[in-house]
Amino acid sequence: MSRALLIVPHFWDPICVPLGVSALKAYAERFGHEVSLFDFNTVPEVFSVQRAYFDELERQFPEWRRWNAERNATDLLAMHQIVYLYGRARPDYRELVAEVLNVTAAPLDTVVPRLKTAPFDALFAKLYARVGSIFQNLVETTRPEVIGCSLFNSTWAATLFLLRRAKALMKGGRTVVGGPGPIMGIASSAAEVAAFHSAHDFIDYYVIGEGEKHFVSILDQPDLPPGILGGEVARLRAGGPRQDFQLAELPDPDYGHLEVSRYLQLSAASSRGCPFECSFCAETVFWKGYRKLPTDRLADQMVMLSQRYRKDSFYLCDSLSNPILDGLSQALIQRGAKLHFDCYVRADRTCLDAEKAARWRDAGLFRARLGLESASQRILDEMVKKTDPPTMARALKALSDAGVRTSTLWIAGYPGETLSEFNDTLTFLRENRTNIYDADAWLFQYHPKGLAGSSTRLKDSGASRPRFGSELSKLTRVEASMVDDGLSPGDRLERLERFVATMQELEIPNPYSLTQWRSADARWEALGHEARWSVLGGGVEATR
Ligand code: SF4
Repeated sequence: MSRALLIVPHFWDPICVPLGVSALKAYAERFGHEVSLFDFNTVPEVFSVQRAYFDELERQFPEWRRWNAERNATDLLAMHQIVYLYGRARPDYRELVAEVLNVTAAPLDTVVPRLKTAPFDALFAKLYARVGSIFQNLVETTRPEVIGCSLFNSTWAATLFLLRRAKALMKGGRTVVGGPGPIMGIASSAAEVAAFHSAHDFIDYYVIGEGEKHFVSILDQPDLPPGILGGEVARLRAGGPRQDFQLAELPDPDYGHLEVSRYLQLSAASSRGCPFECSFCAETVFWKGYRKLPTDRLADQMVMLSQRYRKDSFYLCDSLSNPILDGLSQALIQRGAKLHFDCYVRADRTCLDAEKAARWRDAGLFRARLGLESASQRILDEMVKKTDPPTMARALKALSDAGVRTSTLWIAGYPGETLSEFNDTLTFLRENRTNIYDADAWLFQYHPKGLAGSSTRLKDSGASRPRFGSELSKLTRVEASMVDDGLSPGDRLERLERFVATMQELEIPNPYSLTQWRSADARWEALGHEARWSVLGGGVEATR
């Protein structure tokens, strides 16, 4: 038996109980291991630093007030922390930070004079002092032999900080990371994972893709040599395809001692991967293929978790839920379950039927997160979205008429997007505003291998280049890329700014806090839609 501690480092929004570590815990304990879980994002003094950082960013660079910082500055925050952790003693520290913050690619000597590093440094100093002391206490109380951290772009800096410290705190202990990794998923590239792994000697194992079996191998074998487990590397070494298991073989997630009251929702998932392959998306590259859990099993799991944790609202963590919505709705209705859930839905022909939408609502669907991305048919085709603007509009109407909140996600300045194509999106917003609960726009993030189709197309066209200079790339130990297709970073941000301004003009909200959600609900009800689940009733002890 081995003892392990699995951590979700800052920053990862504590909307729902983290499912990945809960699934790993349940699986490993089936094999006799003992796994503790901890999520730094439920510590208010830790998570609130994200908001404080955005506030400082907007103070020093007021243009960020128009660029939807909550979505588009998380990348910056991660890079900035890396530079703080690894470069703050360097004489060119200020220039390196300025380069990170220079999102419009303006001449650096116009950015440096505007930058005050001290307020950011003060935030990070306090943050890491707090994180360090919580971590030390955790290690002393749980006495793990293995410590693992989720490695996403937004948790990247904290993961490095914690695992380096872990080596000092647990003599002979081992460390592991898993997840898509920084800069839009280095886990899709064997060479980048190998470079990242060898650059951080305090990380023993890098698990790519599905983690359960590899995590148990690490716990079962104290002498397992450090290395990269899973995904492309293992598959290539083994000379064959990865052997994934059926999801029905997995136990129900175990949230352990995570502070469930601090999350808005419980979490569950009915699938891994996605049956579609939108060109800009990393999901199908990360999960390789699509597998489903039988919907009866998912419904039983949701009922059990709801009873155990006394919460009735779920975030379905599936990449896409259209394929399971009918089955899950039927199973929940048959069980008389009084639950609420939200999930990712494609605005395609599967959601145009009013009766079907009403059935989903009756089963508990209170919000559909719709990746609409663009309302230009050419861009939708480029993205392989397999839908069209009239269908998107009808889907919004069918769902909102049924009383389902429609949360929409958009990409401003997709590679090759013309001004008139971008304007089509703004026109769509205008025409459909009363059926849109909220809208959230982000800038396309490029990785030469991590995206289903955009990667190949853009790489082959030679339209990409390094995002940072050599000093910054050396310091961060990753090679970030950006698209170079004639639209400058400034042009893209200008589109983002116009998108945000149009939302404000149309009074379409983009809530990121409990207060903002309440006001978004009030608008929704004033438009004549029903708000069927309220964050007020979610029993959350606000971390946000
Ligand atoms: S964007 Fe959504 S529908 Fe498209 S591949 Fe990704 S998860 Fe699937």
